[in-house]
Amino acid sequence: MSRPAILDPLFRSLRSSKGVGPQLSALLARFFGAPEGQDAIALDLLMHMPSGFVDRRRMDGVANTYHGHISTLKLHIDRHLPPPRGKPHVPHRVMAHDETGDIQLVFFRAQGGWVERALPVGETRFVSGEVGFFNGEKQITHPDYIVEPEKFETLPLVEPVYPLTHGLSAKVLVKLTRQILDTVPELPEWVPEARRGPWPGFREAMARVHLPQNPADAELGGAARTRLAYDEYLAGQLALLLVRSELVAPRGVARVFTGAITERVAAALPFSLTAGQQAALEDIRRDLAAPERMSRLLQGDVGSGKTVVALMTMAAMAESGAQSALMAPTELLAAQHYKTLKPLCERAGLGIVLLTGKQKAAERRAALEDLASGATSIAVGTHALFQSGVAFRDLGLTVVDEQHRFGVHQRLALSEKGRHTDLLVMTATPIPRTLVLTHFGDMAVSILREKPAGRQPIDTAVLPIGEYERVVARLRARIDEGAQAFWVCPLVEESETLDVVSAEDRFAELQAVFGAEVALVHGRMSGAAKQAVMADFAAGRTRILVATTVIEVGVDVPNASIMIIEHAERFGLAQLHQLRGRVGRGAKRSACLLLFKTPLSETAEARLETIKSTEDGFVIAERDLELRGQGDVLGTRQSGMPGYRLAVPDVHSYLLEWAHEDAIEALARNPGLAGAEGEAMRVLLHLFRKDLAIPLIRAG
Ligand code: ADP
Ligand code: MG
Repeated sequence: MSRPAILDPLFRSLRSSKGVGPQLSALLARFFGAPEGQDAIALDLLMHMPSGFVDRRRMDGVANTYHGHISTLKLHIDRHLPPPRGKPHVPHRVMAHDETGDIQLVFFRAQGGWVERALPVGETRFVSGEVGFFNGEKQITHPDYIVEPEKFETLPLVEPVYPLTHGLSAKVLVKLTRQILDTVPELPEWVPEARRGPWPGFREAMARVHLPQNPADAELGGAARTRLAYDEYLAGQLALLLVRSELVAPRGVARVFTGAITERVAAALPFSLTAGQQAALEDIRRDLAAPERMSRLLQGDVGSGKTVVALMTMAAMAESGAQSALMAPTELLAAQHYKTLKPLCERAGLGIVLLTGKQKAAERRAALEDLASGATSIAVGTHALFQSGVAFRDLGLTVVDEQHRFGVHQRLALSEKGRHTDLLVMTATPIPRTLVLTHFGDMAVSILREKPAGRQPIDTAVLPIGEYERVVARLRARIDEGAQAFWVCPLVEESETLDVVSAEDRFAELQAVFGAEVALVHGRMSGAAKQAVMADFAAGRTRILVATTVIEVGVDVPNASIMIIEHAERFGLAQLHQLRGRVGRGAKRSACLLLFKTPLSETAEARLETIKSTEDGFVIAERDLELRGQGDVLGTRQSGMPGYRLAVPDVHSYLLEWAHEDAIEALARNPGLAGAEGEAMRVLLHLFRKDLAIPLIRAG
């Protein structure tokens, strides 16, 4: 859907902003989670909300400030007291006063005479900073702002404070944000008149939040921030309703199952289904037998056996004469699924093909022919399954294996073909009910709680990276006993290149000890190279796999019983849980070593403690929500949990109800979203990146 031109300035790459070179541009792309190979855009910056503010409005003179106050003072500069020669540790002191009293300004290691230039004797300056006491004298050490009287306007009396990342300074971020604010267009109003009350328009709200004039502008409960939170909820609710209206549309076919193929598949399985798997299958069969379209979420921790449920479902579809598509998030995972399912399908006489972007032309052509003729019942692949050129004879079911990248966005990416089928979504993150509602709409949920029998608990240990030598020695012993290990390398925030370098360094170090037994896989490798490395590891030809998390470590290697995660303190809880779940799949007892670097932040320590103490994904998910509630900015992205950027659920959740009602009302009144109101809603959907929902708007 083409984007309204009015939004163009907000979708411009930050690379085109003043002061953004390649390095900063890469940092911003990473920080804002831009898709691989793409830049961050102006909108990312606009949506990056301050986490708080500094109030500098206390301006009532030296006599009225006390220890710990942030004050802004209009000072007359009296005298400089630079450090004596050869004593660089003594601070440079500046004596100053206003009509109420005296104060000193203190600078450590001030070189090059800049203090003298910034605070010329005999002149007046506005100075803002935290007031302290030393030897009974009032002083400000390293003021935050020193401003000439005629430039008082540039001193932010209410100063927003932003979440930052290593390498990104507040100064740079603030400057860029101001630049962007100047380009924000006046947008049509999408908030219904009756709801608006004292709320400013979108543009004005953004200006207030980023350039607050008073605390009410900056506060979470203030009109500006409230409006923006509502906007975000409204966009989400509109998108969900549009998707839902598609999903529940009657399919008109009540599936009938003979049981013949599912029985053969069950017989081909080397195990019997758990009670949980059976219950999930019953839910699914009931859905499929009803005339409405199925829309079901299958939640189950890593290793809980979702793939078999998908296979049995696809076998049932084949019995009713329809085809199924299994969509994985990466080519690697698609290949993995195919490899697991193919032998079972063959034994059950069920046709299955793999479709990837990188296949040989002849292979692909054969697969496409079999799908078009109906000779094949199951297609496994990535979203490429739904690209043009792929024709199914009768596609009846789409299974989406979302791992952790779930959300309505994925559902929307299915395109026409996929959306009209029954839908089974599998996710490995146990999702609390409230999140299911906001992010999945009204999907029905089946849960696999127990793990297949025979699973051994995983011994999890947390160690400082200083123990590296001992870890390697122990690893050597375990490898000699026939074990295999994953070694996951740190996520370096600055750049993906550095990620790879750190993995390459670790790889080289381990190679010195383990020689050809070690292999390396990372996101910069070609798909074919990755698959070759994975295949070697799965076949046991290599014993240790060093990997970055850029690739999904979503592979099933039952013999791998050791998971080592370096810089574990940098990972989110869900990610740690997911990584650990890669071991503990075989008969051997498994171990997970979390190596961390000191000092640990409080939340990082809490995360590691949680992972160490439990393997229950639901407990971990709840704890994750709690911890991220404390404002771990990167947590949202790292853990893969869907997150709001403007709305803060603890404060704004009442607005979700309002947005829900308003979205229902708007679509009921104006299903085609016609006219000025519809135009505004479309702008809103684009603004919050829900534009994939736009094609779902019914023709008016
Ligand atoms: P996930 O839910 O993470 O996708 P998988 O479907 O990959 O889990 O299953 C993990 C492992 O458990 C696989 O090796 C699979 O063969 C095995 N498995 C699945 N169901 C059972 C069962 N009922 N009994 C024993 N093993 C099972
Ligand atoms: Mg899986």
